[in-house]
Amino acid sequence: MQNFNFTPLEMPHGVADLRDQVREFLDTELAELKAVDKAQSWAGYSADFSRKLAAKGWVGMTWPKALGGSDASALHRYVVIEELLAAGAPVAAHWIADRQSGTLMIRYASEMVQQRFLPAMARGEMYFCIGMSEPNSGSDLASIKTNARRVDGGWVINGSKLWTTNAHRSQMMIALVRTAPQGEARHAGLSQFIIDLTSNGVRINSIADHLGARHFGEIFFDNVFVGDEMLLGAEGDGWNQVNSELALERSGPERYLSSYRLFAELLDCLDEQCDDITTNTIGEITADLWTLRQMSMSIAGQLADGSEPALEASMVKDLGACFEQNLPHTVQAGLGASIPLNRENDLNETLSYLLMASPSFSLRGGTREILRGIIARGLGLK
Ligand SMILES: Cc1cc2nc3c(=O)[nH]c(=O)nc-3n(C[C@H](O)[C@H](O)[C@H](O)COP(=O)(O)OP(=O)(O)OC[C@H]3O[C@@H](n4cnc5c(N)ncnc54)[C@H](O)[C@@H]3O)c2cc1C
Repeated sequence: MQNFNFTPLEMPHGVADLRDQVREFLDTELAELKAVDKAQSWAGYSADFSRKLAAKGWVGMTWPKALGGSDASALHRYVVIEELLAAGAPVAAHWIADRQSGTLMIRYASEMVQQRFLPAMARGEMYFCIGMSEPNSGSDLASIKTNARRVDGGWVINGSKLWTTNAHRSQMMIALVRTAPQGEARHAGLSQFIIDLTSNGVRINSIADHLGARHFGEIFFDNVFVGDEMLLGAEGDGWNQVNSELALERSGPERYLSSYRLFAELLDCLDEQCDDITTNTIGEITADLWTLRQMSMSIAGQLADGSEPALEASMVKDLGACFEQNLPHTVQAGLGASIPLNRENDLNETLSYLLMASPSFSLRGGTREILRGIIARGLGLK
């Protein structure tokens, strides 16, 4: 059985100043943003906001200065992300580039490729999306069919990807594809490529979700050429690379803060005389939030030390998704007379939006059942 590592971490010296600076910036930038837009959390999209945030040095913070970053620690970045999410900032444009694509390229891309992309990503101008899921291959990612065939000077890609967040608003994708047919070793023969989505042969359709929002899409690759330099890491090593990418994707504060705006709106609405039921509920929410924060910060520290805590990240994602998915129901069902839930106000608008949006929280980034399978394997139960 594997041991879980959730060593508690302290925030480093100097983060309080950084937190204040971010809050001040957000107070100004988000002054006009409506509560229901803030409730979109990291799905809220504004390229203009991403560029302004980047101009402050808060995109790609942990990347080397030579690549447009600030050489900041993972916990400094953590503070910025916490503040962005708590405030409901529209971060989606640069989110994936900042969270995982940049780090992946620092690990696996050539210096030339890094220089080509990372400075523009750190300026908040170059956006990436994640090409893992396909029609009929979501949870069973190893069964993907999109393939790359070697040709002179590069590769030719054919196939399709599905549910790709912001595919239609990104310039680039990092895609997992087959470079060798599936054999007995199901995870062998997979590789990652950086694909320019403006290339000949790429077709993208946005897809409306159940709320009518168009934040994800389907992408078709018809003989799309990519140069040799766009192979990320080693040919055939895609499965290991994707798993280390998923540790970045599954452990951050966005995995428990997606409904946080509702909590903030709730606190804003409270009368000074708060009844006992409401006080207890707020206490329970706060205790859960604080525990998840400690777990998530611990993973940020491990990632910064070069570890790959994929198992711990799965635990944070699963527990965090349960928490942020339950929060709207807790607020709706469990609160006492202190809360004006029967009036038209920011609290109610935020609540209505999150009641409808939150079912997806336990699907994106790996479903609950899949994460629990990973955790069970880690515990030696499977
Ligand atoms: C908002 C949102 C954003 C997304 N963004 C992206 C993105 O940017 N890039 C990307 O690549 N993908 C993205 N996805 C896709 C997401 O990763 C997949 O939806 C998810 O992995 C599940 O795959 P599926 O939809 O094919 O469902 P399926 O894999 O068909 O699963 C259907 C159901 O069966 C269950 N199930 C499947 N296999 C097992 C098993 N072995 N044991 C127990 N239960 C099982 C699942 O848990 C699920 O409940 C996004 C999804 C959402 C909702």
